[in-house]
Amino acid sequence: MAWQYTKGLHDIGNGIYAYLQSNGSWGWSNSGLIVTGEDTLLVDTLYDMHLTGEMHETMSRQVPAAKTIQTIVNTHADGDHTNGNGFFPAAKIISSKSTAEEMQHTVPPQVMANMLKKAPPEAYMRKTLGAFHFDGITQRFPTETFEGHTSLSVGAKKIELFHIGPAHTDGDTLVYLPQDRVMFTGDIVFAEAHPVVWAGPVSRWIYACDFILEQDVNVIVPGHGPVTDKSAVATLKQYFVYLFEEAEKRYKAGMNALDAAYEINYEMFSSWKNPERMIPNVAAVYREISQTAEKPVIHETFALMSQWNKKKAEQADATSHR
Ligand SMILES: [Zn+2]
Repeated sequence: MAWQYTKGLHDIGNGIYAYLQSNGSWGWSNSGLIVTGEDTLLVDTLYDMHLTGEMHETMSRQVPAAKTIQTIVNTHADGDHTNGNGFFPAAKIISSKSTAEEMQHTVPPQVMANMLKKAPPEAYMRKTLGAFHFDGITQRFPTETFEGHTSLSVGAKKIELFHIGPAHTDGDTLVYLPQDRVMFTGDIVFAEAHPVVWAGPVSRWIYACDFILEQDVNVIVPGHGPVTDKSAVATLKQYFVYLFEEAEKRYKAGMNALDAAYEINYEMFSSWKNPERMIPNVAAVYREISQTAEKPVIHETFALMSQWNKKKAEQADATSHR
């Protein structure tokens, strides 16, 4: 089944909807809507108030019950899935305990706004995040948390929440609707793009892929990218298994993580967006193998990723002149 990857609300059937924002790159996240009668649940909000407001208007127009969002589930703490929480001041917000803790430590939107204002026009941050409005965001944090697994219902519809992280972040949660065989994965699945490993370990992410593959699931709504199915999860698992093996070889040979990221051939995933994420992803494998507990410094990682296209071009040039 091919789903169109267009901005807006996509009807998955039986009161389940995906709200997609193409093209899925940095900050362009998806969210979900589940409606039974007058009962409503939103899976994630968007990166800013404007985008979240626009999304809510679209939802309310197509599904009138969505005018009142009763419950929000945040799949993880990143701003592109939580900054819009404040648009729904009365909604109950549920997340894993780890996600609630991480939200206390993410860079506040106002700090992002100030950083963007100061960034020079050619800055990578401006290129990747310049379209978003970080001013005027009132952060809302989870009002209820769970550990491990919990289930809730929207009308008669059963919803299972599985804390599957740490992988992309510590608190990653899968939102599974077993009766409908639909799963909202948050950023455990990036469709048609390189995933980005912030927390790791990568082996836990491979476990998360296996977990999804074992469930009875027909439709997968990823955190970024088009609506997909288990085949995308199987490919993602292959990516991580391959990445791990290739990074491990280079680690054992004494190569540093950055050189390894540039050297590893990812041709079989060449259609995927954001290859610069090889940098944090290889670094995550190195941390895992060397049992380094410290987390990556996000702004340093972004500074390295900003060099990717230039360095890859130089690399290609050097190869062609050899
Ligand atoms: Zn995201």
